[in-house]
Amino acid sequence: MKKILIGTHNKGKFKEISFLISKKLKKLSPIKLQIPSPKETGKTFHSNARLKANYFYKLSGMPVISDDSGLCIKALKERPGIYSARWAKKYGNFHKAMKFILRLMKNKKNRTATFVCSLSYKSHLGIKATVVGKIKGTISNHIIGKKGFGYDPIFIPYGEKHTFGQMSKSKKIRMDHRYIAFKKLKKKIKIL
Ligand code: IMP
Repeated sequence: MKKILIGTHNKGKFKEISFLISKKLKKLSPIKLQIPSPKETGKTFHSNARLKANYFYKLSGMPVISDDSGLCIKALKERPGIYSARWAKKYGNFHKAMKFILRLMKNKKNRTATFVCSLSYKSHLGIKATVVGKIKGTISNHIIGKKGFGYDPIFIPYGEKHTFGQMSKSKKIRMDHRYIAFKKLKKKIKIL
């Protein structure tokens, strides 16, 4: 069975990406292989996704799919953006980071936000593709829902009444930014 490394330490992302990839590939995690996370020094989702693909490929020697993603909020000048994971660290955890965001959003009229995901694939032939997926929505007034991960409980996608945190896993997985990016990547990398 051919192997692929899913280049992320985030369990929520790992589950979503594993679900999307062909059953014919054996999915491995850097946690199991005891490969630590790289420093995310890029200034964009794309550059961080590529950086992770290069890093994990170098250390594992196997084909890699890597993700860099985050929540961009218009009224906050597209923050937290590439700093989404770092905000959770800075404020203690995701719940505290969401509370902080809701405080910042208190008097903001425009609650538009976008979840962005860059996915990168690298094999022995080099970086084969890096693509982006986006889903637009609004920031809720409260933290609602216990499902999903990260900022799911404050994001309501356009056309929906509920946050990602309230949605079933199977529904969210087939509509989010990662899914949109994955569909683009699969067009380029057929084995996925
Ligand atoms: P990074 O790509 O490892 O820098 O981490 C991105 C961070 O963005 C994650 O730790 C999550 O907090 C957040 N994020 C990315 N995608 C999602 C999602 O689908 N739902 C909720 N939060 C997400």
